[in-house]
Amino acid sequence: MDLAKTVILTGDRPTGPLHLGHYTGALANRVRLQSQCRTYVLIADLQALTDNSDRPEIVSQAVWEVLLDNLAVGLDPEQVTFVLQSGVPELAELTQLYLNLVTLAKLQRNPTVKEEMREKGYGANVPAGFLCYPVSQAADITGFKADLVPVGEDQLPVVEQTREIVRRFNSIYGETLVMSEAMMPAVGARLPGTDGRAKMGASLANAINLSDPPGVVREKVMSMYTDPTRKRATDPGHVEGNPVFAYLDAFDPDQDRVSDLKAAYRAGRVGDVAVKEHLAEVLVDFLEPIRERRTWRERRRDELRDILFSGTAQGRQVVARTLEKALAAVGLPAVADKQAASISEVV
Ligand code: ATP
Ligand code: MG
Repeated sequence: MDLAKTVILTGDRPTGPLHLGHYTGALANRVRLQSQCRTYVLIADLQALTDNSDRPEIVSQAVWEVLLDNLAVGLDPEQVTFVLQSGVPELAELTQLYLNLVTLAKLQRNPTVKEEMREKGYGANVPAGFLCYPVSQAADITGFKADLVPVGEDQLPVVEQTREIVRRFNSIYGETLVMSEAMMPAVGARLPGTDGRAKMGASLANAINLSDPPGVVREKVMSMYTDPTRKRATDPGHVEGNPVFAYLDAFDPDQDRVSDLKAAYRAGRVGDVAVKEHLAEVLVDFLEPIRERRTWRERRRDELRDILFSGTAQGRQVVARTLEKALAAVGLPAVADKQAASISEVV
C-alpha cells in the first residue's frame, strides 16, 4: 500500500474521556501514521447519542475532552483533520442510502452490536439508531473514502459490515465506493478493564483515563483485579488473563524486565502489590508527557474551536463529493446542488 496516497478515517464516540484502551487500540496507530497518510479523526457525536439520547450533556461535554485527548497523545492539527460528525449532514444522507442494503437480521447478528446490546440490557427495546450504528459508521468510513481504519478488535465486525455495504453498493450501482480495511495493533487490540472484564470501555467504569492524575492512576492500579486463584504472594500466579500483565505488555518500555517479572510471578516469587507498584510507575511515566501536552492545549481553548470548526468544514466538502457520486451512481437526479443556482432548472 502506498502510504502517501492512503486515506485514514478513525474516530471516537464522545461518551467520556479517552482511556488506555483507546491508546493501544487506535490512538497509537493514528499517531504513528499521521505524517504519512491523509488522516481524518471523526468525533462521532451523533453515534454517541444513539445510546445517550436522554443524556445529551454527556456527549456535548465529551466532544471537547475527546479532542483534547487526541491532541494530548501527539496528534498534530496541522497534519490531521478533526471532524465533528453532526457538522456533516451529508453523512446522514449516505446512511439513508446504505440502510436499504442491510437487513435487520444482519444487524442483530453483528457480534459487536449483540455484545453491546447485552451489556446495556436493551433486548427488543434497543433504540433503532443504536442498532443501525454500523450503517452510519459505514457512511463515515466511505464518505471520507478511507482505505485504512485503525481500530481495536471490538470494532472489526463493524468495519466488516462497512465492507459488505461497499460490496453490495458497488455491485448494484457500479464501482463507486472505496473498499476499506481495518488496521489493528499487534499488542493491545483489546485492552482488558481494571475489573478483569475483557474490554476497558468508556461506558464501563473500568478505565484508566489518559487524563487521570498520578494519584488516581496509582489508586486505580492498586485496586485492580489480578489472579483470583492466588491467595498468597508465594502461590504460583497466572499471567495469562491477568490485566496487570496485559498493561505491562502494552506500556512497559523494558520488555525484558516484564519477562523476568512474569517468570517470578509464575514461580510465586513476587507479590501482587510489588507488580502493581511497578505498573503504577510505568503508567504514570507514560502519561506524563500526555498530561503536559493536555495542560498546554487546555490553556488555548479558542484554538480548539478553530481546529474543530475548520476541520469539519474541510471534511464536509469531501463527504459532499462522495454523496454526489453515490446519488449519481444510484441514478437519482442531483437536485440539491442545483437548487441554489436555479430552481427553475428542475421544475
Ligand atoms: P463506549 O464504551 O462509549 O463505546 P469505547 O471505550 O468503546 O466507548 P469507542 O469510542 O467506542 O470507545 O472506541 C474508539 C476506538 O477505540 C475504537 O477503535 C475501539 O476499537 C478502540 N477501543 C476502545 N476500547 C478499547 C480497548 N479496551 N482496547 C482496544 N481498543 C479499544
Ligand atoms: Mg465502543
